[in-house]
This record gives sequence, structure tokens and C-alpha cells, in this order.
Amino acid sequence: MSIHVNQLTKRYGNFTALDDISLSIDDGELVALLGPSGCGKTTLLRSIAGMEFADSGSILLEGRDMTFEPIRHRQVGFVFQHYALFNHMSVFENVAYGLRVKPRAQRPPEAEIRRRVHELLDLVQLDWLARRFPPQLSGGQRQRIALARALAVEPRYLLLDEPFGALDANVRKELRGWLRRLHEELHVTSLFVTHDQEEAMEVASRIVVMNHGRIEQLGTPAEIYDTP
Ligand code: ADP
Ligand code: ADP
Repeated sequence: MSIHVNQLTKRYGNFTALDDISLSIDDGELVALLGPSGCGKTTLLRSIAGMEFADSGSILLEGRDMTFEPIRHRQVGFVFQHYALFNHMSVFENVAYGLRVKPRAQRPPEAEIRRRVHELLDLVQLDWLARRFPPQLSGGQRQRIALARALAVEPRYLLLDEPFGALDANVRKELRGWLRRLHEELHVTSLFVTHDQEEAMEVASRIVVMNHGRIEQLGTPAEIYDTP
């Protein structure tokens, strides 16, 4: 499930948020998008998701031109900084949500939904909280549930927008480990936005460093940070 971004430019009025971005991500990679606040990381993620449309350039998913396809045609899972869990739904119902709202023809049978939800809750080792509600969980537990929820619909691409940004340092470290484990288990092509260099180095196989809407550097953590 490869991602190809070709010469993508996105403007907001006179301001150029993305300036001629080209980037290729291979099937199953976990790439970090690193850079200071305002450099265009979220805009690039939202463009790949189909939540924004570029002014020029193109986006190919698995070789297919998806530049003007809306988010519902792109099979992406999204995790945000501020968990979008529903507080009035149990943990189980939150993870099942994306499957339950599918059109009838695509919706798995109830037994399959239960199997898949419990399997994902097992993966993040929170099946024991299935009947609780989000306000009863810690911040770290909620983001593990948010990861499970994004993955429940079996997305081809997982897009993470500073998913651990609101948590304290120790919990962030723990969640990096969870993200790595989930990625090793499921191999979903993933793009992870962060402004934390240590986080990018620890989680990703490759790092894209952005600045002022452009790509400044691109390589493995060793290539970018171990200058001989
Ligand atoms: P980052 O994620 O790296 O912090 P963003 O992609 O969110 O950066 O934003 C890049 C720039 O584009 C910022 O200067 C931001 O203010 C601007 N921007 C983002 N979205 C909009 C919008 N909808 N309208 C106008 N400006 C925007
Ligand atoms: P529709 O036009 O059928 O209402 P949308 O294109 O708004 O559908 O959304 C289709 C799917 O994309 C939904 O399942 C929804 O979960 C997801 N989606 C839409 N907008 C967002 C968003 N801002 N963030 C994350 N997922 C979204």
C-alpha cells in the first residue's frame, strides 16, 4: 500500500502551506513527519487523507491517482492528538464504531465485529476495560483505544497527527512502544506526525524533516542524525 506524493502545493490565500512536496512511502513503512509548528505537517497528512485538496500536484495510493478522491474512498485510519473517543459509548462500542457505521453491504456480521474488536483490544492489552467508558480511563489508555479504533476498519493507511502530544513524557514513551508493536504486528503503511525528534527516531524507519512547507531532509534516523 504505497503512497506517492508528487509536487504537491497547497495555499491558504497568499500563504503557501505546502510548497512542491514530493515523497514516496513504501508498503508497510512507518514514516515520521518531523518539523516545527506551522511547517505544514498536518496539512500534508490531511492532504494524503483526502481531508484537504491541493492546488497542484498529485497523490497516488497504490499507484492509483487519488488526488481528488474524498476521504471515504481512501481507506485511511486517523488518530488525532485529542482522542476522538465517544464518552457515552463503552470502550468496546468505540472500537466497533467504524465497523457499525459501514453501509449494510460492507458491514461484517455481528460475530465478526466482536471477534475483531476483542482481537484489537487484546493487541493493546486493554480487553479487560471493554465495558468501561473513556472518562474512566487514563490518557495513555485512551490513546491505545484510539489506535485500536483506527485499526478496526482494517485501513490500508494509518495516519497519526501528534497522537501522543497531549500526554506527559513517561506515557508518551510507553505509547511509542505500543505503536511500534502494533505496526510490527499489522504492517499498515503509517505516517506519524510529531515535533519530537526523539519520538521520530525511536518509532520510524524513515524520517521526513519539514520546514516552511518544504522537505528539508529525508532518510533513516541514522542518516539524518549520525553525522560522521
Ligand atoms: P504543522 O502541522 O506543521 O504545525 P499545519 O499544516 O497545521 O502545520 O499548518 C501550516 C500552516 O498553514 C500554518 O501556518 C497554519 O496557520 C496554516 N493553515 C493551516 N490550515 C489553515 C487553514 N485552514 N486556513 C488558513 N491557514 C491554515
Ligand atoms: P460522507 O460524505 O459519506 O458523510 P465523509 O467523506 O465525511 O463521508 O467521511 C467518510 C469517512 O471518513 C467516515 O467514515 C469518517 O469516519 C471519515 N472521516 C471523515 N471526516 C473525517 C475527519 N475529519 N477525520 C477523520 N475521519 C474522517
